[in-house]
Amino acid sequence: TRIKGDYRYEIGELASTLNYMADEIVRSNQIKDDFISSISHELRTPLTSIKGWSETLVSGGYDPEETKLGVGIISRESDRLIGLVEEILDFSKLQQNEMKLSMGQVDIKVLLQETLLNIWAKAEKKRIHLLLECEETIFIKADANRLKQVFLNLVDNAVKFSPEDSSIVLSAERLSGTEMAVTVRDSGIGISEAHLARVRDRFFQVDALNGGTGLGLAISQQIVELHNGKLEMDSELGKGTQVTVILPLDDSQQGNARPSNSPV
Ligand code: ADP
Repeated sequence: TRIKGDYRYEIGELASTLNYMADEIVRSNQIKDDFISSISHELRTPLTSIKGWSETLVSGGYDPEETKLGVGIISRESDRLIGLVEEILDFSKLQQNEMKLSMGQVDIKVLLQETLLNIWAKAEKKRIHLLLECEETIFIKADANRLKQVFLNLVDNAVKFSPEDSSIVLSAERLSGTEMAVTVRDSGIGISEAHLARVRDRFFQVDALNGGTGLGLAISQQIVELHNGKLEMDSELGKGTQVTVILPLDDSQQGNARPSNSPV
């Protein structure tokens, strides 16, 4: 038996703490290694395509249709690269507590409509129906661009993990006098209980083959928290996923709801 004060007890405690720390370091190094290998792959794929098409076009002899196709691919792949780099930069800003919000009054319905417009073409490719349910006009104080980034990420995930011909529903409602919720619901592949606990961890992906950085949900959760909100997830494997973003209502608008067709 160990007696407190006995140096053997203290050395034992110290050894187990050091062991624990060493395990943590190994674990976090492993996570970083996985991230570096997956991000390198993510960056290389569009770069290979950009390089391939530019060399092909430079060699000449292509008709206008083929040239248009090549330039279109170069442009799309460059956007993908910019998106990846921005995601990494946002993550690093959040890590260093350097993301500054530019707050203003935001009409949630308008913001969600804009979000859906941005992702419409991608959903269309899988014939996925995007539905918006928002009966009332809801104002909140938020950074419109950052919040749109969150909803875009959530709907983008929903599209990515949903089968063709399915539906994704975005809904917004007041919860109480002080809070509102936006929910993104899909009927896609779902997430197991064990994975659900980890999907919001930075770099975590259920399957690295799906592409992406594993940063989207970690960034989204932190942006929501910067708005004094919460991001909650519920999912059932094989059935679908529901992500709810709860945000405080704009104080100055409480009890002052306007019909959506009235001038602001
Ligand atoms: P990524 O950019 O890799 O998608 P995220 O942080 O957005 O990173 O998501 C992490 C992981 O969570 C995804 O790789 C996926 O395994 C899982 N996931 C996220 N959203 C969904 C969803 N709607 N349905 C099923 N799995 C999801």
